[in-house]
Amino acid sequence: MATFKAIRIDKADKGTTAALTQFDEAELMDGDVTVAVEWSTVNYKDGLAIAGKAPVVRRFPMIAGIDFAGTVTQSSHPDWKAGDKVVANGWGMGETHLGAYAEKARVPGDWLVRLPANMSARDAMAIGTAGYTAMLSVLALERHGLTPDDGPVVVTGAAGGVGSVAIALLAKLGYQVIASTGRAAEADYLRGLGATEIIDRNELSGPAKPLAKERWAGGIDSVGSTTLANLLSMTKYRGAIAACGLAGGMDLPSSVAPFILRGVCLLGIDSVMCPIALRRTAWERLASDLDRGKLAEITREISLDEVLAKAPEILSGKVRGRIVVKIA
Ligand code: NDP
Repeated sequence: MATFKAIRIDKADKGTTAALTQFDEAELMDGDVTVAVEWSTVNYKDGLAIAGKAPVVRRFPMIAGIDFAGTVTQSSHPDWKAGDKVVANGWGMGETHLGAYAEKARVPGDWLVRLPANMSARDAMAIGTAGYTAMLSVLALERHGLTPDDGPVVVTGAAGGVGSVAIALLAKLGYQVIASTGRAAEADYLRGLGATEIIDRNELSGPAKPLAKERWAGGIDSVGSTTLANLLSMTKYRGAIAACGLAGGMDLPSSVAPFILRGVCLLGIDSVMCPIALRRTAWERLASDLDRGKLAEITREISLDEVLAKAPEILSGKVRGRIVVKIA
């Protein structure tokens, strides 16, 4: 029996269990491409899946992990051959399809994006789904027509994974970036990424007025709830906020005032089922627009064996920047 190392999630009497174990290759799910996974990462959703805190996993047994970078070993898909370097995010991996915390993955070839020529598999996963989501948010703001001349942009959950990459991207693109964080001690870290102003997240966490003083032309929000409501109420006339996260809650206690009185737009960002063409654009833009030196500064490396202990930490907001996981 051929096996490979993986983090397996099983259903238990109460909730779920997660363990590093040998997984039977015969249990791999359908797919026309097999990949030797080299790197993965720890995202907020991975923390939820491993801690069993939210119904992320919907098929058992499951291999956790929502994204990977690696090398194709076998393919019957016309676009891929053995030796190709690929990256995959979402599509239900780690939720309904066996995921990334494993030495081997089998997936439909249509899910894969070619690793940009000047990007290593490790860098791709240092970026990970968090960074790719930050890029999708930047692309949405650009589609809206936002430019650095329109005024400052705000990033919430600033010291987290999405927030850190969003700040680095926006600063490199010439935006004046206001970073909202609950961790005052990370002010130097956020300035190092390119933030020009740091605000305490408590300023944005109380109940939102329908409209408040206009402070920013755009923003990227990974927090949700009252924070997103405050962002909207403080957005300048015809500005836009890209909403991608719920670290502070899933609700949105807002009003229509920002939309109908200031023409503000709320741009929804989903990375999981994002169309393949937009994924390719996002990865190409990450390759050209993200400062790799800054990426290295925000990234820590752990082994697959360390994921079980590290993943739940992300749920308590203790993780700064990005964690990359060495699989092979
Ligand atoms: P992280 O945990 O790395 O970052 C989240 C940050 O949010 C924290 O670092 C903290 O930043 C802030 N935060 C945490 N808890 C609270 C709270 N109760 N109130 C206010 N702020 C809080 O997670 P990620 O960056 O990986 O993900 C961020 C969010 O984006 C998650 O909700 C995740 O599910 C979502 N996401 C969505 C995707 C999509 O497809 N739409 C894809 C990827 C992620 P600080 O300490 O600076 O205040």
